[in-house]
Amino acid sequence: MKNGENKAWATRDQSVVWHPCTQMKDHERLPIIPIRRAQGVWLEDFAGKRYLDAISSWWVNLFGHANPRINAALKAQLDELEHVLLAGFSHAPAITLAERLIALAPPGLTRCFYADNGSSAVEVALKMSFHYWRNRGQPQKTRFVTLSNSYHGETLGALAVGDVTLYKDIYKPLLMPVIVVPSPDCYPRAPEVSCVQHSERMFAAMAQILARQQAEICAVIVEPLVQCAGAMRMYDPVYLRLLRAACDHYGIHLIADEIAVGFGRTGSFFACEQAAITPDFLCLSKGLTGGYLPLSTVLTTSEVYAAFYAEHAAQRAFLHSHSYTGNPLACQAALASLDIFRADDVIEKNKSLSAHMARALAPLHVHPHVAEVRQTGMIAAVELVADRATRTPYPRHERRGQRVYAYGLEHGVLLRPLGDVVYFMPPYVITPSEIDLMVEVAIRGIEWAVAG
Ligand SMILES: *Cc1c(COP(=O)(O)O)cnc(C)c1O
Repeated sequence: MKNGENKAWATRDQSVVWHPCTQMKDHERLPIIPIRRAQGVWLEDFAGKRYLDAISSWWVNLFGHANPRINAALKAQLDELEHVLLAGFSHAPAITLAERLIALAPPGLTRCFYADNGSSAVEVALKMSFHYWRNRGQPQKTRFVTLSNSYHGETLGALAVGDVTLYKDIYKPLLMPVIVVPSPDCYPRAPEVSCVQHSERMFAAMAQILARQQAEICAVIVEPLVQCAGAMRMYDPVYLRLLRAACDHYGIHLIADEIAVGFGRTGSFFACEQAAITPDFLCLSKGLTGGYLPLSTVLTTSEVYAAFYAEHAAQRAFLHSHSYTGNPLACQAALASLDIFRADDVIEKNKSLSAHMARALAPLHVHPHVAEVRQTGMIAAVELVADRATRTPYPRHERRGQRVYAYGLEHGVLLRPLGDVVYFMPPYVITPSEIDLMVEVAIRGIEWAVAG
């Protein structure tokens, strides 16, 4: 009977909801899972079946679902102020959050511009960079440089600076042209080459483009250290150091999209810290509110801010807005999340969790259908292939990753492979034994998916 409730919701869902990033017909085979409640790392459906949220509900959740501390902060905020426009008005949560983010961010970032989702933050950074150069008398700077296999969101500007074919190709006629430079991703390196060496060598292509086209380039946009939507491909911080130096040299902005990798995912609070660099624009969202509410922000420098600061008549202002920009509830959730980071010494504690994850995944290093197990901090990924020696991928239509997904669901773990890359990005409240369970189910799922 309980399972009947699941089915009833799934049926109603199927007749009215159009789901994101989904071929809806697939749900004829694999029914949608309606979630009734969630607690910590566990999601629970209407039949009482539980799923370990190994992917933090699309990389947003940091401290578990229904976290008591974030809940309490939100409930208190709800009785004070739910929302007010952020133009002409302000509120304590937005101000305090800006102060605290600036204090945590790499040195030199002094201004916080709010938006309400990740893609919008990317749009803001792109427009601000372009507009900065105009205000500084360099209107010929109109182009953006991006890395191959990068992802920056789905709105048209963000999609244009991304490079994941699956999401982008169909919309190409609508998108601004961008300059794509080969990614420093370490997966394709030769076995005798270290990741540092590889990332360093891959910078040559970037250096060449920047030297040649500096006059027309506004900014380079990158996902620091991990290209998450691009199948969790990883590279060495050396690339960011070289990129920062080159951008400085040629007068080009550096946009760091830490929407996925910020807030401790890579082992440091921000990924840029590992390269000891400060970008001109730092885009944040996803984990910003601990996974509770949509919010994003772009942090930038006094230098950028100053280029827009003028008499009204000069028409230099940044006229960009979203209705829910800097929503007080979302800001309050973010503040509660930052409190947890501080009170629980989260970055330090995560070190033992990520070490535990590495140990749990160790058996896969020698698996005949695993080309690589890679990890940066709290993000780990397993690259499945048809043949380990030649790294030949499986034919796409075989959808091996999808089999792992189905197996995981059946056995109570939400894994959502990107193609044939099985990855783990759990909330930080996961326990070592839950890590063991998560990886165990994934390994059995992989065995099942590669058989036959
Ligand atoms: C998810 C993501 C975005 C887009 O954020 P949305 O809130 O989904 O619009 C942008 N950049 C990166 C790196 C992301 O992972």
